[in-house]
Amino acid sequence: MSFQLITIPCLSDNYAFLVHDRDSKKTLLVDVPEAAPIKKALVETGWTLSDVLITHHHADHVQGLEELLHAHPARVIGAATDQHRLPPLDLAVTEGDNFKIGTQNGRVFDVSGHTIGHIAVLFEEEKLLFTADSLMALGCGRLFEGSATQMWNSLLKLTALDPDCLVCSGHEYTSANARFALTIEPQNAALKDRIRRISDLRNKNQPTVPSTLREELETNPFLRPQSANIRHILGMQNASDDQVFAEIRCRKDKF
Ligand code: ZN
Ligand code: FE
Repeated sequence: MSFQLITIPCLSDNYAFLVHDRDSKKTLLVDVPEAAPIKKALVETGWTLSDVLITHHHADHVQGLEELLHAHPARVIGAATDQHRLPPLDLAVTEGDNFKIGTQNGRVFDVSGHTIGHIAVLFEEEKLLFTADSLMALGCGRLFEGSATQMWNSLLKLTALDPDCLVCSGHEYTSANARFALTIEPQNAALKDRIRRISDLRNKNQPTVPSTLREELETNPFLRPQSANIRHILGMQNASDDQVFAEIRCRKDKF
């Protein structure tokens, strides 16, 4: 592993991530909810910021960028399709593009749904997946701009990846997501086990993010529309996966 990862709590429930490549000394920041805690982490680690990845246009992911760049100039990477509403980009990327952080390769996925133009990035060798408000710990982002089918197709791209990947998502929403997940799949033993670990972490005020893709596949109801138990509970035995996903998303919105 040539990457070191730091999770930085920002605002009330956001996360930013710093990734440092030991070999090249490059340092990538993923999202900028606010500048101060990120500046502090850069001082404490002594790392020199080289790149900033913006996952999507929402203010709680970009609003610290300008202030941060004054003190720490860096290459800004974001979605080409969202350039009209993102801060100025130095590198505009689309689905299937790759960019380098030192020797490590970041692969870009379009994961539209929460917003149109939301991107996720995979560092395959390091097994690090940055998903922000697409795939989240025990959840997925609310559908502000895209359709349920669009989000489901976005999530399918991620479920096909190495289950050992660490899923670095954008918010600490996990406890609320857990309460909802139990209503969808009350007999899931892996879910109940995970919820115990989540409450232990939260009682110690520790982040539940990142999670592994494996635990999301086993416990996140939004990734499990094929589950017979879930279909039974929803009375949707003969529906398509994206219809079941849409029903789960709809129930979460009202939860
Ligand atoms: Zn968002
Ligand atoms: Fe967000």
